[in-house]
Amino acid sequence: MHPPCPTCNAKQVVYRGYRYNRKTRKRLRLCTACGRKFTPDDGFFRMRFSPKEITKAVALYKKGFSLAEVKVRMEQDDVKVSRWTILRWSRKYHLRKGV
Ligand SMILES: [Zn+2]
Repeated sequence: MHPPCPTCNAKQVVYRGYRYNRKTRKRLRLCTACGRKFTPDDGFFRMRFSPKEITKAVALYKKGFSLAEVKVRMEQDDVKVSRWTILRWSRKYHLRKGV
């Protein structure tokens, strides 16, 4: 039983390969309604922000931008996020500056 697509909520979801990271392999699911790939169990799923937004914020922070700078850049994309949230993301996803 697949969970519905997090983007369009459609139930037409199929398995489509795997996503690998350092420690784990996760099954990727593909929504055949909107074409989006997702992994419902990857920790992003229950958050209010999209994985794309979280990934971008963490990537900026990792590049060496300060939390305040990341916040400003996210706001330019209409993403309202607190510095604390960015910090939490960077810890949660085990990314540190300069790694
Ligand atoms: Zn969809």
